[in-house]
Amino acid sequence: MTGPAPRPARTGGPARPLPRTAPGDPHAGLRDAVGRWFGATARDLPWRAADRTAWGVLVSEVMLQQTPVVRVEPAWRAWMERWPEPADLAAAPTADVLRAWGRLGYPRRALRLQECARAIVERHDGEVPRGEEALRALPGVGEYTAAAVTAFAHGRRAVVVDTNVRRVLARAVGGVALPAPSYTAGERATAAAVAPPDDDDAVLWAAASMELGALVCTARAPRCGVCPVRDVCAWRLAGHPDDEHAARRRTQAWAGTDRQARGRVMAALRDAPGPVPRGVVAEVWHDAAQLDRCVASLVEDGLVEQEDGPGGVLYRLPA
Ligand code: SF4
Repeated sequence: MTGPAPRPARTGGPARPLPRTAPGDPHAGLRDAVGRWFGATARDLPWRAADRTAWGVLVSEVMLQQTPVVRVEPAWRAWMERWPEPADLAAAPTADVLRAWGRLGYPRRALRLQECARAIVERHDGEVPRGEEALRALPGVGEYTAAAVTAFAHGRRAVVVDTNVRRVLARAVGGVALPAPSYTAGERATAAAVAPPDDDDAVLWAAASMELGALVCTARAPRCGVCPVRDVCAWRLAGHPDDEHAARRRTQAWAGTDRQARGRVMAALRDAPGPVPRGVVAEVWHDAAQLDRCVASLVEDGLVEQEDGPGGVLYRLPA
């Protein structure tokens, strides 16, 4: 398997019940219920608007991979205002891109997105390409993002599986509390079997199943009492058996991690008008050895540049 698919829920096509695809289709009831629910409750998000662009959808999918909708929406609006086309982002100074990324987290995504924009300009005349194969050839675009752009931007059938869809399928179809820690071939096969064959229906199912996982079938507190698929959900009907993978799941604390230290360094450089002396960077974190390790990793990732100044080492965002 290829590791966990990215995160949260997003786009949507027309809201309407999904048709049965074949007599005796075991998943028709699930799709019908989720489709009707989505038609009544879908969130009004800018990357779902009728005038959305493929580039806007791609940007939203990258931002949403590890950041909640509520934090992404204002950042996405500002980003699209500033860089409405791939060529705009491709030509931007990288320091501006990292500043605009701000506190969305995992800033390597911003670098990859700019590399992606440059590849779109160089290889595709500035147009987001069609087809999952062409999309996956772009920097930073993996299985999930390629499928999501194919479905939500281009309206074509794709098996779109993020962490929310994995959870919904594990529970409603598989009858277990949570999916395996890593995405499996069996999950991929189930997702492909549940997805309708028709383009419009598949797009709607992708958006609706993501939304259900994001808003109702959440990881820690599934709202089974109000869930549209409670009458067909295998996990609920089995009496909510325990998570068989519980011992293998880790919840990573945030405080004190390298991620937190890296975030502090990036914030200091984003807020500074120019290069920052090492002494100033040293003030953002209490553990000098950990800070050195984190700064070195930021330099290695291309997120920070280091230079010698008259008073010692200076750090800054890439030009
Ligand atoms: S009934 Fe509960 S567990 Fe099943 S899909 Fe709905 S919210 Fe999730």
